[in-house]
Amino acid sequence: MDLGISGKRALVCASSKGLGRGCAEALAGAGVHLVMNARGEGALEEAAAEIRAAHGVEVATVAADITTEEGRARVLEAAGEVDILVNNAGGPPPGMWTDWEREDFIKALDANMLAPIAMIKALVPGMMERGWGRVVNITSQSVKSPIAVLGLSNSARAGLTGYVAGTSRQVAGKGVIMNNLLPGIHDTARAEALDSGVAEREGITMEEAKAQRCATIPAGRYGTPQEFGAMCAFLSSQHAGFMVGQNVLLDGGAVNATL
Ligand code: NAP
Repeated sequence: MDLGISGKRALVCASSKGLGRGCAEALAGAGVHLVMNARGEGALEEAAAEIRAAHGVEVATVAADITTEEGRARVLEAAGEVDILVNNAGGPPPGMWTDWEREDFIKALDANMLAPIAMIKALVPGMMERGWGRVVNITSQSVKSPIAVLGLSNSARAGLTGYVAGTSRQVAGKGVIMNNLLPGIHDTARAEALDSGVAEREGITMEEAKAQRCATIPAGRYGTPQEFGAMCAFLSSQHAGFMVGQNVLLDGGAVNATL
């Protein structure tokens, strides 16, 4: 399927690895020029070089922490005008509801709610002026079905989801389409970190922790960054023009719900 976005420019935040990388790769495959971001320069440059070589698109890089004002300023300056914004950052650490203090919530809100909102506020006005734009926010399955040990994530992402629900409807009339993409468990470093926490807590091996988790997923496996990226590219495409403020769950059926 021709996604109709060849030649457009996308900023993909937090994209040297994992789901962000999957999104960058799929957009590049559709002919989109990229601005990629992550904190670590080495992995970022490596990912950018691989994508340039595989897809022949322009790829600029900005090594910066997207959850800080200073980091965002550098990313925005380098990015300039973009047609597509993919919001992403690392997720908050797991824990117990009794552990989290105000400072922990502020950090989670900064990273997973206020950072994407700041990026939307910076880039969506230009998209509206030009009459075309796409925003995809990577959130989590936990928005639909809470993951108790990820209470910081549950809270921050619910806040972003509420903001997007209203804002997406205020900008759609100007051609800017904004949706959220909700990953269930995917094969990335983040999943490995969560599995190692389970293995440690329960005194089991990583393989056992993974098998235990797979048994709760009707698809019987973890998702891949490639599958995730393909949906991101579709949400960024011409074909998504009538899809406003939706929360698209990619979880192999793990959330047991009719709607
Ligand atoms: P990942 O494999 O750990 O990759 C994270 C990527 O983001 C890396 O490129 C990392 O590079 C970059 N990054 C992290 N923090 C950043 C920051 N502050 N500023 C700029 N770049 C940053 O993680 P993932 O699995 O792709 O997860 C992406 C998001 O989806 C997370 O918020 C995660 O909680 C959420 N999620 C993931 C899953 C899953 O199963 N994988 C499920 C539900 C939700 P640097 O470290 O070099 O910055």
